[in-house]
Amino acid sequence: MESVLITGAAGFLGSHLIDKFLAEGFEVFGMDNFITGNPNNIAHVASHPHFSFIEQDVTKYINIEGNLDYILHFASPASPIDYLKIPIQTLKVGSLGIHNVLGLAKAKKARVLIASTSEVYGDPLVHPQTEDYFGNVNPIGPRGVYDEAKRFQEAMTMAYHHVHGLETRIVRIFNTYGPRMRLNDGRVIPAFLGQVLRGEDLTVFGDGQQTRSFCYIDDQIDGIFKLLFSDYALPVNIGNPNEISILDFAKEIVKMNGNKSKIIFKDLPVNDPMQRCPDISKAKELLGWTPKIGREEGIRKTFEYFKTLSKEELYKTEHKDFSDYIK
Ligand code: UDP
Repeated sequence: MESVLITGAAGFLGSHLIDKFLAEGFEVFGMDNFITGNPNNIAHVASHPHFSFIEQDVTKYINIEGNLDYILHFASPASPIDYLKIPIQTLKVGSLGIHNVLGLAKAKKARVLIASTSEVYGDPLVHPQTEDYFGNVNPIGPRGVYDEAKRFQEAMTMAYHHVHGLETRIVRIFNTYGPRMRLNDGRVIPAFLGQVLRGEDLTVFGDGQQTRSFCYIDDQIDGIFKLLFSDYALPVNIGNPNEISILDFAKEIVKMNGNKSKIIFKDLPVNDPMQRCPDISKAKELLGWTPKIGREEGIRKTFEYFKTLSKEELYKTEHKDFSDYIK
């Protein structure tokens, strides 16, 4: 039986990866320190005979007894408001964390796949974003802690690939959503759906003309899985190219809610990218992958999940406002 270590196992993406690898017949090790992960996301696999959990910070020395065939490095805060709140941990997991992961992979002769991000393109000047675009990142802006950590992570991964001949894969993940996202993580889909459930106004930042392209979790997991088993070491974008402005998206949610919500406008966070849309030609060509789940279906499934959460979770305020963190 082949084995895989998933860091960030209790996170949104990590927990769905666990399900995928267990379903495909792998022995799965999950690692998380619960800094942004949620134990509830992995409760359903706790007693699975092929799953083991290690509660650990990946920035500290990591080890797994016995053979290890694959490592997927998904540990990291991923919501802008999270990495503004814990910037040093964000930088550490992308730098010290990846160093430990690559060291373990080298020792075990394991193949590594790292979770990179559309944030490596910053506020992009090329649209849609192709993998050969170098990006437009402000290293000292509020998002720099995430963007630069992920850029460093890519550089370190390629260095291990070239110097040590390590088998490596890099996925650049564009906005992804679905069940098990944290309702209060500050990102736009949980934010809007939480606001609908609480009967609050929808908060659009800036004038809402900035665009995003939202990929449903099942499509994202399928793309990541295919990339891991490809033989391509350079970065590959995985996301849904169906682009929409945040204001139009808010209107879609208002409509879904029977026109019961109002839209209000708030300040645009510093360095918020104005346009984001993946060019997925590479994924199509190399992996035969395209996203299959449209926004309407994906949002409906995500909304159904959020509806199952307790009142306590619905009203838990982890974050107040961006202005609390941008000083
Ligand atoms: N956004 C918004 N209202 C919210 C939360 C986010 O208008 O309550 C906007 C945010 O400014 C950004 C977009 O939605 O332009 C997506 O934000 P998110 O935090 O989901 O992720 P990002 O793509 O910026 O990393």
